[in-house]
Amino acid sequence: MKLQCVECGVTYPTSEIVVRCMCGGLLDVVHDLATLRQTVSASQFDERLTIRSGPLASGVWRFAELIFPDALSCVVSAAEGNTNLYASPRLAQWVGAEGLFLKHEGENPTGSFKDRGMTVGMTHARAVGARAVVCASTGNTASSLASYAARGGLPALVLMPAGGVAAGKLSQTVAYGARTIEVRGDFDQAMRLIREVAVSENIYVLNSINPFRLEGQKSIAFDLLQQLNWEAPDWIVLPGGNLGNTAAFGKALREAVDLGLIRRSPRLAVIQAEGANPFYRAFRQEFQHFQPVIAKTVASAIKIGNPVNYPKAVRSIVQTNGIVEQVTDQEIMDAKAQVDAAGIGCEPASAASVAGVRKLIATGQINRGDRVVAILTGHLLKDPVTTMEYHQGKLSDVVPTYPNHSTVIEGTLDQVRSIVRTLLVS
Ligand SMILES: *Cc1c(COP(=O)(O)O)cnc(C)c1O
Ligand SMILES: [Zn+2]
Repeated sequence: MKLQCVECGVTYPTSEIVVRCMCGGLLDVVHDLATLRQTVSASQFDERLTIRSGPLASGVWRFAELIFPDALSCVVSAAEGNTNLYASPRLAQWVGAEGLFLKHEGENPTGSFKDRGMTVGMTHARAVGARAVVCASTGNTASSLASYAARGGLPALVLMPAGGVAAGKLSQTVAYGARTIEVRGDFDQAMRLIREVAVSENIYVLNSINPFRLEGQKSIAFDLLQQLNWEAPDWIVLPGGNLGNTAAFGKALREAVDLGLIRRSPRLAVIQAEGANPFYRAFRQEFQHFQPVIAKTVASAIKIGNPVNYPKAVRSIVQTNGIVEQVTDQEIMDAKAQVDAAGIGCEPASAASVAGVRKLIATGQINRGDRVVAILTGHLLKDPVTTMEYHQGKLSDVVPTYPNHSTVIEGTLDQVRSIVRTLLVS
């Protein structure tokens, strides 16, 4: 295993703390696939499903050979992954996709997929003797980092956009004990500050620029392929912000095909919010130009104008014959209301994937009969304020198409009785 620059090909040992190549390029973890082809098999991963404790019970570390071999003795893990793959006839009908599954990454220990990357990144940080860990975050990376740093015994610093972080995420980060800084500016500005301070102070960065985090996030793809008995779906649909998952999924699928775990690769469809759509714009120009934007969307987890993983994400789309689509905040919040009312629930950014599938079916880019896995990236409870504002009609530019009202009463039996009766007739 080594690190390799995606731009110039220079390699680095994994025992060093390097965030970027000397040329500025992003780094990939490169595995010895020729050896892995002889040593790993789907049945070996299936046998591990019965393990109930220790690192191999984690839906990340079950795939350790494909992620971070040799780390099993020193992992910081909380049995990540193993999240539900839901089928919902009601939602499938609303979306128009008969073969729709929802992979709920909000069911990870701190409520988002970030835990899958964090367990691997934190393990590497400790393995190389990092003194402290830092990140810039729209909230979920911060909560995850704060939890794993506490458990791994490392000081943690997070930078977040002031006023731009959902209540669940900010409170988690403070509660887990990270040093929390709110920057008057947007995520992209916080990210710039982190890059500079990491180099000048030599501290360990756990943004998705970190190649070990992306190795951990590959396990979302492995986990869902395993749940489908290694029969690849036609599509995997996911929201795109910093494009870490887009990068990770492409790499996971490339390796899964190469190692013979699946016969053919699913196509990726990445969904961006219309107000935070630099990847979509670049896709429309066949990736000839990339122009950052000033991001604006209700889905704060994907409110990112200058995604750090852009070059790797392009590679993922090209390699899987993928597509990039955009959806409005209205479409995102209506899709969220439908996911929530199906009893599954998710945070706004996650619903972009469901809104995206619906749009891609309507425009004929995905066929109604295709098998589609949409990724739900974060838990419903992450952003309770936006949920209530939708149902109360308080979101600007969003009309609640599927509102559910809470009724305040004085507490008489008659009032409750009449409400019960309306429930029974409907
Ligand atoms: C981080 C995050 C995203 C964006 O993922 P990227 O890998 O940065 O594209 C989407 N949804 C949620 C809930 C997130 O926490
Ligand atoms: Zn380089």
